[in-house]
Amino acid sequence: MADNLADAMALVDDLVADQADAWDIAGLIPDAVLRKLGASGLLCAQVPAGYGGLGMSSMDNGKLTAHVGSRCSSVRSVMTSQGMAAWTIQRLGSPAQHDSFLPELTAGQLAAVGFSEPAAGSDLSAMATEISPDGDSVVVTGQKVWVTGAYYADLLVIFGRCAGAGAAVIIPRDTPGVLIERVADPLGCRAAGHAGIRIDSARLPADNVLGGFGQSLSLAVTAALAYGRMSVAWGCVGILRACLAAAARHAQTREQFGKRLSEHQLIARHLAELLAAEQLATRVCEDASKHWDSRSPDVAVATVLAKYVSSGHAARGAATAVQVLASAGAGDGHVVARAYRDAKLMEIIEGSTEICQLILANHALARAA
Ligand code: FAD
Repeated sequence: MADNLADAMALVDDLVADQADAWDIAGLIPDAVLRKLGASGLLCAQVPAGYGGLGMSSMDNGKLTAHVGSRCSSVRSVMTSQGMAAWTIQRLGSPAQHDSFLPELTAGQLAAVGFSEPAAGSDLSAMATEISPDGDSVVVTGQKVWVTGAYYADLLVIFGRCAGAGAAVIIPRDTPGVLIERVADPLGCRAAGHAGIRIDSARLPADNVLGGFGQSLSLAVTAALAYGRMSVAWGCVGILRACLAAAARHAQTREQFGKRLSEHQLIARHLAELLAAEQLATRVCEDASKHWDSRSPDVAVATVLAKYVSSGHAARGAATAVQVLASAGAGDGHVVARAYRDAKLMEIIEGSTEICQLILANHALARAA
């Protein structure tokens, strides 16, 4: 068990090492690596020690997430899913459900969270998955798409509708009626195990419904997404750090027109912009984590802001890094090529750029009123 941030980072260095590009090309993270990361508690590091977790603050978990993100966005994506599953159980589940499910997630079982459906992407109020009570059981029928980590997951946290309200239910992957279909060749985070999930009359104990029936779908989803946004935002800090390091290294060694690239002022400007992006993303994530750790009422907006700023900077910063390396960074298996593809997806998930802008604009209007 990694018992502090430095140990956790060292374990990530040890297990991920320089294998991220090979995993990206293969589209697969070795099972043994994921199990070891999971059993060390660092895929959901904010889970309290009483449940076998590391009990990290949001700030330390953020720093760990950025470190993982700087090495491998696919591992970071699996970490985001696991952390979001654990957070959903913590927020929505009963004490008995905490006791039952959280120790599984800190002992090496892997989890994924399904909100999105074919007709419910940005608009999750269109969710159609049915979670129907039937005596001591519930029966679940529906379809989820693009669920990160579902290909690897033992447990699926599935959101849906239940008797006119919302609900989230834990479904073991081997439940009869559950079919997991891998997304073929995603643009980025290619080893993150994205999968669609078809659920046809899967029957589960009613105890697997987190917090019971009659919840607000929108509040339940927002609680889970808040963790995902924070995690993605810190992951983007890691992408920017990897891009800045690669671009600076290359600019100091490659020569054109008789001098190093770094001595050409237009390239120096690219490096300055990358540094500014990395610093801005770090500061906005630190601010949001401070809000998490002090349980501030402004945490939701601070988290959306962090996700919006970090993902935009990561997407633009990765493009800048590819520009600095040019052909040297354009091949499959190069860190900046991978970052370029991975970072673009960060502008889509956990509330797209446009959805974040709408939330932030509403906040601005409310403040002005
Ligand atoms: P749409 O909702 O169809 O949006 C298309 C475009 O329209 C976007 O640019 C969007 O911003 C814009 N748009 C939509 N509504 C508005 C509006 N009101 N105003 C302005 N613009 C608007 N889902 C899960 O449940 N679990 C996961 O783990 C998960 N992981 C994912 C990982 C990856 C790599 C990807 C690509 C997706 C993942 N998703 C996951 C799904 C993801 O949450 C959705 O893709 C996302 O919510 C956007 O939905 P959509 O793709 O259907 O796009």
